[in-house]
Amino acid sequence: MIADNLHTVKQEIQESCALVSRNSGEVTLIAVTKSVDSSAAEELVKLGVNNLAENRVDKLLEKKESLSQYTQISWHLIGNLQRRKVKSIINHIDYFHALDSVRLAQEIQKRATHKINCFIEVNISGEESKHGIRPEELTAFVHELADLSNVSIVGLMTMAPFDADDETIRSIFASLKNLQEEICSLKLKYAPCTELSMGMSQDFPLAIIEGATYIRVGTALFKKG
Ligand SMILES: *Cc1c(COP(=O)(O)O)cnc(C)c1O
Repeated sequence: MIADNLHTVKQEIQESCALVSRNSGEVTLIAVTKSVDSSAAEELVKLGVNNLAENRVDKLLEKKESLSQYTQISWHLIGNLQRRKVKSIINHIDYFHALDSVRLAQEIQKRATHKINCFIEVNISGEESKHGIRPEELTAFVHELADLSNVSIVGLMTMAPFDADDETIRSIFASLKNLQEEICSLKLKYAPCTELSMGMSQDFPLAIIEGATYIRVGTALFKKG
């Protein structure tokens, strides 16, 4: 079942890339394992998926522990992170996708023993319920991170609204791409900002069309039937 799902997802990645003449090698599939146990995650790793994500600190540490023999796995924390939990997780992950405050960045700076790859979460849709920096505050926010040597801004992340139409979702992803290019063009050493983390099970084809380089997919990989 998981193998079939993976095959389908990979095919959709290729088709979406082909539509806009992108090389599918530019898109990294991150498997979001929050709804499954370690054995399902392991099955995917055995099928060659080497990027796994969790949205909770404790769950990520648990999975990492039980899959510790697979040293090739890159671990992504995609959910938001409370400052008091930074210490327990930050040196165990390869990417953090939800940086959304200066105080959080300062705590990462304090606790990290090496440079942490971070995506800034941007709230493009403006929904109250969503985390993230507002687009108009992004540039100032990035400048505030200048002295944090352990925080490297590799890109931007967003979540599209769950119930929006395709056109709206595409425009949200396109806006994130514009912001990414803007930050990238500042040529800040601590913020190369070349990556775009956007697209989930129901909207990753649209995200790829709009330039996603990391897609975060859960349900489509683990659904039954
Ligand atoms: C759960 C989650 C995903 C994956 O969602 P699916 O719809 O299951 O693909 C992606 N990103 C974040 C931040 C999540 O919390």
